[in-house]
Amino acid sequence: MKAYLDNNATTRMAPEVLDAMMPFLTERFGNPSSFHSFGSGVMEEIEAAREEVAALIGAGPEEIVFTSGGTESDNTALLGGCAINPLKPGLVTSKVEHPAVMVTAKRLRDGGAPVEFAEVRGDGTLDMDSLGALVSGRTGLVSLMMANNETGVIFPIAEAARMAHEAGALLHTDAVQAVGKVSVNVKSMGIDLLSLSAHKFHGPKGIGALYIGDGIDLPPLIIGGHQENGRRGGTYNAPGIIGLGAAARLAREELSGETDLTGEMLRRMEKSILDSCPGSRIAGGKAPRLPNTSTVLFRGVESEAVMTLLDIEGICVSSGSACSTGDESPSHVLTAMGIDPREANTAIRFSISRYTSQREVDHLLEVLPPIIDRLRKISPYAD
Ligand code: PLP
Repeated sequence: MKAYLDNNATTRMAPEVLDAMMPFLTERFGNPSSFHSFGSGVMEEIEAAREEVAALIGAGPEEIVFTSGGTESDNTALLGGCAINPLKPGLVTSKVEHPAVMVTAKRLRDGGAPVEFAEVRGDGTLDMDSLGALVSGRTGLVSLMMANNETGVIFPIAEAARMAHEAGALLHTDAVQAVGKVSVNVKSMGIDLLSLSAHKFHGPKGIGALYIGDGIDLPPLIIGGHQENGRRGGTYNAPGIIGLGAAARLAREELSGETDLTGEMLRRMEKSILDSCPGSRIAGGKAPRLPNTSTVLFRGVESEAVMTLLDIEGICVSSGSACSTGDESPSHVLTAMGIDPREANTAIRFSISRYTSQREVDHLLEVLPPIIDRLRKISPYAD
């Protein structure tokens, strides 16, 4: 039996998304920028997808630029956002960002820009005092993730946006893990730039979007084509864009549902894990969190050993960000929360989705406790 519990790495594509994409992978292959109706008919579908994406985050369609995914959206937001006003080249971000933001921020810093990293508290929440102390008159951009990919902890973006605006700075949020899982409204939250990625909410890989608030003249990252009104060059990825539009429509329908089934499943799973594996705890367990993400610290065991034994049982989990695979250093997110590096190396991330079945969770709950028990018996660090 297989149990896929690694949905923050990527999700299963919804069948409706594949159905929507299929014509554009086969007979409707025209270039949307072509003059003839074979191409321009595809452009009409792209504009319909743009409206779906805009509706999911409370934006206007003209404020959506399609990109190749979360990483490109983040790169564009940071590199462009810090270049808008030469008098305000500063960037303030946090210590727990995804590498798509973190590495770009360090590149800007290495190029001489004033770049600062705000602290988080022990529960993974943003330290607003630390943020307030770093945002200054020379800050052009504040970039903070909406929800953390490892812990699921949610940051108070509306409050951070107010702080950024008081200093005359723009607010960018990497909402790659939040969009499709919690409701997002760029207008009421005061967001200027927002990154999202289709494959995190049952859309295809390699397609995403950057929301650019009306009136913001963000320099493009990818140049050389007139597409997207000159805001992002390159032939439109028509199947991908149409898949993203379909995934956005499904997510909006799902989010307007009355019951939070994913959240209930996660809460029951967490309780069962903590009961059956004493001495374990949830990173950021008391903080506001996504309804699908749980990182558990299994004191005394190495996460790599746990992942390997779970994999043999057909259970897919992660020790943190999928991008950290192969990197044995402890998670920068967990250590920023003050978790001792040795304990950080015991972390396993479980992330579910609307397609996760109770059978998959039950399989985990049956297999996990004996694995933890067995590993603790041979661990030199277990109590
Ligand atoms: N930002 C966050 C918070 C993520 O979790 C990810 C993917 O793991 C990304 C950005 C990168 O998105 P993409 O895979 O679409 O490039």
